[in-house]
Amino acid sequence: MSSGLPVSLDPPASLGVIGGGQLGRMFIQAAQRMGYRAGVLAASEDEPAVQVADWAVIAPSDRLSALHSFADQAEAITVEFENVSAPALRWLSGKRPVRPGWKTVWVSQNRLREKSFLTRHKIPHAPWRPVRSEPELALAIRAVGLPLVLKTASSGYDGKGQVRVERAEDAHSAWLSLGQVACVAEAWVDFESEISVVVARGADGAAQAFPVGLNRHRSHILDSTVMPAPVGPIVTLEAQTLALSVAQALELVGVLTVEYFVTATGDLLVNELAPRPHNSGHLTIEAATTSQFEQQVRTLSGLPLGTSDLIRPAAMVNLLGDLWADGEPDWSSALRSDGGIKLHLYGKKGASPGRKMGHLTVLDPDPEMALDRVQAARRALTARRGNGSP
Ligand code: AMP
Repeated sequence: MSSGLPVSLDPPASLGVIGGGQLGRMFIQAAQRMGYRAGVLAASEDEPAVQVADWAVIAPSDRLSALHSFADQAEAITVEFENVSAPALRWLSGKRPVRPGWKTVWVSQNRLREKSFLTRHKIPHAPWRPVRSEPELALAIRAVGLPLVLKTASSGYDGKGQVRVERAEDAHSAWLSLGQVACVAEAWVDFESEISVVVARGADGAAQAFPVGLNRHRSHILDSTVMPAPVGPIVTLEAQTLALSVAQALELVGVLTVEYFVTATGDLLVNELAPRPHNSGHLTIEAATTSQFEQQVRTLSGLPLGTSDLIRPAAMVNLLGDLWADGEPDWSSALRSDGGIKLHLYGKKGASPGRKMGHLTVLDPDPEMALDRVQAARRALTARRGNGSP
């Protein structure tokens, strides 16, 4: 599914990323560290990736003149999120290597296609049904049972575009609340924990899985990741093996994240695929021999993959806009409280609730201790105001 054009681009070649958010920014920073020139196609000047890029094309990502200009400057192209116009990516792949390929992105940008892909490849996931009309929702309730989660097929992230349906009487309002658009209905999973695995796969099929991350969410948004996840060697191996086989089935060239639910019996169910680096892999910047962003650079440019083992266990917490509610967080208090804390801010203007503004990482021989330390540092950001979050 990736572009068939061979790639062998050594530094200082010019690499391009579509999307101006924090994932694009960290890709660019990894590329620049290796001596590449790195640019971005973004919607506006003040986006996180544009601030650090060597060059930028500012335009909607499906405008043909912008795509021409982007392809002129980028010798190989990647994406920082999956909601990129598939026709635009297909057009670009006629001009330049595009990794991941447009079909991989196309599958993962729509939950109906993604679930069908999982079903077709017999990859374990929660029971689900397509819902494109209200009668189909009634059928889905019968097929998967209640409670269920109704999720819009496209444009959903961080819990947006999804609603839990408890009773058959709630179906009508759930359908209306999501705007009567194509959805998937998914059985509610009483999971024990949520984990994820990031894998990188080169054009030659060589692949590497990072250690498993244990993810905790708050209000459907990732709150913290601990790596390695304390799920034992069998679940670890199964999660990594399954993620590698998903990458192969997608014919992925690039980086892929597989998010799982772990049930009480230790079974794995795939929740979501993302053909790119992921928030749960941010701690690999400091904690792994090769970060997820460097792997993205390597797979894009045709360099061999780096090893993806951990230097030390680590934990990461997100810094959401809520922390700015009463003004700028107290950075020096947080960093004074623990000299091992690494601060990442994405340069976003406007801290609204739920918006990912940055993250903190700490390495510690004991992963649970890492989580305690990084949470304590986050509390210190607002402690003087007496409203710290855990
Ligand atoms: P998603 O956007 O699909 O990754 O969902 C965001 C979060 O909502 C997940 O990480 C879970 O915490 C929760 N969630 C989503 N789907 C389900 C489900 N079928 N059963 C239980 N919790 C879910």
